[in-house]
Amino acid sequence: KIDMLKSQLLRIDGKGYKAYKDIQGVYDYGNGVIIDISYVQGDPFASPSKACIRVDQKIADFPQYLYQNKYRKIALEDFLSREFYKNINKIAKGNRGTGKSGLIAINRCGQEVLERTSIIVNSRYIEARIALGLPARGRRVLAQQAIEMFFKEIPEITMLSLLYKNIDGHKAKKWVELYEDQEFIRNKLKEMKLVAFVANDSILPRESGISDKPMRGNKVIPFKSPPSLEIEIHTPNRGVIRGMGIPSGITLIVGGGYHGKSTLLRAIERGVYNHIMGDGREFVITCYDSVKIRAEDGRRIEKVNISPFINNLPFKKDTSCFSTDEASGSTSQAANIMEALEMGAKVLLLDEDTSASNFMIRDVRMQQLVSKEKEPITPFIDKVKLMKRDLGVSTIMVVGGSGDYFDVADLVIMMDEYKPKDVTQKAKEISERFKGQRKPEGGENFGNIGDRIPLPESINPKKGKKIKINAKDIDDIRFGWEDIDLTYVEQLVDISQTRAIGDIINYAREHYMDGETALKEIIERIVNDISQKGLDVISPFYEQHPGEYALPRKYEIAAAINRLRTLKVK
Ligand code: ADP
Ligand code: MG
Repeated sequence: KIDMLKSQLLRIDGKGYKAYKDIQGVYDYGNGVIIDISYVQGDPFASPSKACIRVDQKIADFPQYLYQNKYRKIALEDFLSREFYKNINKIAKGNRGTGKSGLIAINRCGQEVLERTSIIVNSRYIEARIALGLPARGRRVLAQQAIEMFFKEIPEITMLSLLYKNIDGHKAKKWVELYEDQEFIRNKLKEMKLVAFVANDSILPRESGISDKPMRGNKVIPFKSPPSLEIEIHTPNRGVIRGMGIPSGITLIVGGGYHGKSTLLRAIERGVYNHIMGDGREFVITCYDSVKIRAEDGRRIEKVNISPFINNLPFKKDTSCFSTDEASGSTSQAANIMEALEMGAKVLLLDEDTSASNFMIRDVRMQQLVSKEKEPITPFIDKVKLMKRDLGVSTIMVVGGSGDYFDVADLVIMMDEYKPKDVTQKAKEISERFKGQRKPEGGENFGNIGDRIPLPESINPKKGKKIKINAKDIDDIRFGWEDIDLTYVEQLVDISQTRAIGDIINYAREHYMDGETALKEIIERIVNDISQKGLDVISPFYEQHPGEYALPRKYEIAAAINRLRTLKVK
């Protein structure tokens, strides 16, 4: 009973902070609401305490419709996380003493709707996983303040956020239906042999380089498909949606500088996730297995087969099993491609702005001056078609500077003052008219892709021994003594994904890394575990709720493991 909590708190009032440990436990608010205080922090500055609030579905009374299938469930959980977050800001008083005293927090959501662990909805209950800063003055328990949190703020926030009658049911329905349509389109792409879809009237540009919110104002030009590429898709909830379909194959995005090429590519690259209502990219939907590729000099590479792109290095360094502690621009880009292919990527996305130029192109004059034997790099232009033919992997790339790519393109889209045009015919004519003497250097086949087996001791020397893992930032995981730098892993969009990846690496080590299983297989097993048992499964703290994860893709998980500087593979 919840009265127990009150008397506990009164009893420890003014005592040392450690006395708070006594309130750990489950309490019943009555009316189908319970709170489980599962972890109590050691002092007011330490990471906050954790609690779950669970409301019986009979009381919460959400219509089945809103969480009936997996998609709707993910979307509703996202919606309620946002509601909860909003209501905390509205109701919680916040700072109530030393350190984190008074804090009530739930995982924060951005522009994407991701599978998360902050709210769980099923036919039996709704659960919110929150963080609490138990109040103290200095290091002394402030019972009255705690009582206000547990008996006023938390119940109020809970009532407002987790009871169907108190939320905007219409908006929740729209939220859920949008997500369902987005997934519908993504599934439809496969059937239609498309790799991406950009709906008419999408708003692609963002507010600024540091904001993911849509650009506003009368200068924004909404997206409009060229007639030749326009398709329509009949969605279950929104009806017919028209827009540009990009078929599988090799697609160039060309156009003058500042005409919106990178903005289009970036929207496509983020289109592997579903965006919230009002984002402007709601119906920019990309094949889930699309991976952004860029140069990343300085990164470490561990025994990657980069031989399709790099060969005959000075001193005969073996490139079918290439390692370095500090890759160059071109070798890092080659490794990024090979690692994505190793994981099963179906579409590669490249932007000239972030590519190594000697990796992208080697023109006829350079071929004359520097013979093939003297150049280790086979440029991407000579492999892109073979990659499609041998592996079925498509490419969408921004190329403003090299018409040589016209020869290999299936589709050429020109951005002209932010408006896309289909200039494929013209580009093909030009490529006929100015027939180059450039020699293809790609050989007969694309070449082999590695299937590397990570060695478990290189991840964490002692199995079962707890290692400190912490997502310091969206692109920075502290993993034991190592820092994993994910700055250039561009499709990681939420720190909660990063947090999940940190724990997934450890989970991989504990469960599936045996020195015989390939990286791809390991990660696929984990992804499978997650889809069977939920994202909670990766949490190392069984006693605490895992409320701060968001689902990462297998590509970003692999990217993190590949960037762990201690990684060794067989
Ligand atoms: P490019 O890659 O062709 O050089 P960018 O995609 O970087 O061009 O876009 C240049 C600028 O134009 C950016 O500041 C971007 O925000 C803005 N922009 C892009 N698309 C639009 C649009 N549809 N409407 C208005 N501004 C846009
Ligand atoms: Mg650009």
